[in-house]
Amino acid sequence: MLAERLPGLLPDLGDHESMEVTAIHSLCGLPASAVQLLRRPPFENPHHSATAAAIIGGGSGLPRPGAASRAHRGVLFLDEAPEYERRVLDALRQPLESGELVIHRAAGTAAYPARFQLVLAANPCPCGKASGKGLDCTCTPVMRRRYLARMSGPLLDRVDIQLQVERVSLAEFGQAGGEEDTATVARRVREARERQAERLRCFGLETNSQVPGRILRGDLRLIPAATRILDQALERGVLTARGYDRVLRLAWTLADLGRRDLPDANDIGQALGLRQAAAAVA
Ligand SMILES: [Zn+2]
Repeated sequence: MLAERLPGLLPDLGDHESMEVTAIHSLCGLPASAVQLLRRPPFENPHHSATAAAIIGGGSGLPRPGAASRAHRGVLFLDEAPEYERRVLDALRQPLESGELVIHRAAGTAAYPARFQLVLAANPCPCGKASGKGLDCTCTPVMRRRYLARMSGPLLDRVDIQLQVERVSLAEFGQAGGEEDTATVARRVREARERQAERLRCFGLETNSQVPGRILRGDLRLIPAATRILDQALERGVLTARGYDRVLRLAWTLADLGRRDLPDANDIGQALGLRQAAAAVA
């Protein structure tokens, strides 16, 4: 449910983004007249039984874009992620790094944009009952480990926020009210996007997710007191170099959401915690 709400929090696409997204969708077999300029970030949730070509792109003849490219500038949601083919999950590493999918086929090679927000959902075990006290779960520890290991370390290293969500009890489910509505959160997201666009304009960039490491650790370098916890994690080998940059990007977003000009040690600590919350439990 959270994943499906995510596109509603994202701002409308700008003119340039809108053209890109529409161009990709017009390649997907619809007659040109049926395609209107798409203004909202797309949401794609291919089923785990879908072919690799349907998700990554491919097919006979010249490779066509798959769900991952149709999710460009939007959200790609894989529910029950460990059930997807391993080669599909591994193929997502390339666009998570470069924002692009290159597909090689006998008929030719195609490169499609694929800069999406990836949301993976997974049960704690194959039977799905291991959350909370997990008394009903019949899976062995080996089964659980093997299940979660289908999402490889290199893939998870590219996932910035990893959260363990407890099962909602009936009593909690009935307690509605007090939550912020989508419009309020969407406004906060838009303001945070505007802050970062303003800051990054001089680099020709728009969002924190696009900032390369050399700028994060160069022009946008933070004081050592703010990054101490990160430096230690890197030194101890708890964090990869890629993970280090990813935590910095998330910390900038937390600062933007909190209307702070720079991430402080708290933002960095929170970003690191969000990345490791699930790993600490597993
Ligand atoms: Zn189980």
